[in-house]
Amino acid sequence: MQSLKLIQKKKTTPINSQISNQFIKKLFSDILKESKKGPVIVGNWIDNKIVPSNTTQWLEVYNPATQELHAKTPMSTQEDMKKATAAAAKAFLKWRSTPISQRARVMFRAVNLLHEREEEIAELLVREHGKTLPDARGEVFRGLEVIEQACGMSAQMFGETLENVSAYMDTYSYRQPLGVTSAVMPFNFPFMCPLWVAPLTITAGNTFILKPSERCPLSAIAIGELFRDAGLPDGVYNVINGAHDAVNFVCDAPEIKSISFVGSNPAGEHIFARGTATGKKVQCNMGAKNHLVVMPSANKEAALNAIIGSGYGAAGQRCMAISTVIFVGETKLWIPELVEKIKKVVVNEGHDPKADLGPVTTKQAKQRILSLIQSAKQEGANVLVDGSNLVVKGFEKGNFIGPTFISNVSPQMKCYKEEIFGPVLLSMNMDSLDEAIEFMNANPKGNGCSIFTQDGSQARKFQYEVETGQVGINVPIPVPLAMFSFTGWKGSFRGDHHFYGRNGIDFFTEIKTITSKWKEDHTLSFTFPTPK
Ligand code: NAD
Repeated sequence: MQSLKLIQKKKTTPINSQISNQFIKKLFSDILKESKKGPVIVGNWIDNKIVPSNTTQWLEVYNPATQELHAKTPMSTQEDMKKATAAAAKAFLKWRSTPISQRARVMFRAVNLLHEREEEIAELLVREHGKTLPDARGEVFRGLEVIEQACGMSAQMFGETLENVSAYMDTYSYRQPLGVTSAVMPFNFPFMCPLWVAPLTITAGNTFILKPSERCPLSAIAIGELFRDAGLPDGVYNVINGAHDAVNFVCDAPEIKSISFVGSNPAGEHIFARGTATGKKVQCNMGAKNHLVVMPSANKEAALNAIIGSGYGAAGQRCMAISTVIFVGETKLWIPELVEKIKKVVVNEGHDPKADLGPVTTKQAKQRILSLIQSAKQEGANVLVDGSNLVVKGFEKGNFIGPTFISNVSPQMKCYKEEIFGPVLLSMNMDSLDEAIEFMNANPKGNGCSIFTQDGSQARKFQYEVETGQVGINVPIPVPLAMFSFTGWKGSFRGDHHFYGRNGIDFFTEIKTITSKWKEDHTLSFTFPTPK
């Protein structure tokens, strides 16, 4: 009776509900058990187990709120990394011919296991990244949705057929996996971003090597444990740790056929050039400068809340965070009310249930963000809410920055030209929707944007004319779910196929087209076959 009650409770507990820490009765993950005891000496993940690195160089990773040492990331040696490519290349030979429904079955089991582990992985994200627990749960859930999408891979792997393309000739095509595929990932979604890639490429029949962010290394190992326990064979999912040398290894390794990159523009441009030069398929999701336009017809409460949630959630460390608000016409009169709301936003360590945002992930990031706020002051903008000097009681050493709101920003200011990637919102006032669209379209980045309006013709004009790949109408962070693709444009993306959705399948497969003739015919011909 007792155990039945427990099962029922577990089944009906939604992932985003408030689950107390006591609810975690059992730790599933070895890496999490280890990290709860103290700093983890991180290893690589090869053939379904942790393989220690032989390196002498390590990067220390600190808990962003407490500054306690959380982990040491190895800067893997060439020999370390070659073990991973060898394992992935060997595993590919068997994995590609494993029936597709069997490959998908691993993902079905991974979905179930992740439901059991979601809380402890979210907990890890709070300690490693600094985000709040509800935000971390949201990240786990978005990763889970891509695994769910991979469960239906067989329907997405069909080719095409056409009978009688010429006399007695038929043509048909197959989607075939590429071989060893790879990803280089950022710090801000250490669990979700690798899952934008791994479930799809693996279920399509490829093997995979992940180079996670050196600043948040443990989620990649937790994913390895998840897939191992779901039955993924040795060598199909592997992790190599490191920084620039590891990235260059991925770009150059002849065994690797594709690179999926998510991160900043300088790194993405480098990887695109170096990876394509060695003949690899490369897709790069890069930096952003996302605008939100407020029209006079907008619902004021909805617009102001959306600005705050999308600007300051995750301490602004989201590529789809709104970073610039454009107030059109009289909506600039709403700024004082917005400022009062911003002052009520709660900053604290991520386990505090009242916290709206936590610290930024590293000390270096904090210094960079503070210098951009300072530059705005020097260049004549109005800093109406300044979070530069915020100290959180009990976490005095943490990398906290309070929500900051800067008005009267102009396009040549450094704070507008650079991606801030922190809890800082910029604002500008404009006279019309036309002016706002023209201004936004002049920005070199094109990840996402949003409009708040109750006027359908304004919304239609906006969605049609803006030059960003993702548009929100009364939605502040329009990140597409896994059945669509993440479609950044312009300087926010490099490549031909976007991440996940239909584009993801195209990226992880090559199409092979076969033309067959089943009729004895020994005639000599020097021309293309013609229908007879
Ligand atoms: P980052 O570019 O510093 O690091 C990303 C990865 O690239 C890491 O694995 C890192 O080791 C590697 N790297 C960094 N510099 C390199 C270099 N010079 N040469 C080779 N490799 C290098 O990015 P980050 O700080 O981890 O993440 C934040 C950035 O990612 C922001 O610009 C954000 O907009 C972007 N991002 C974009 C998306 C998207 O989908 N468009 C999603 C998340 C984050």
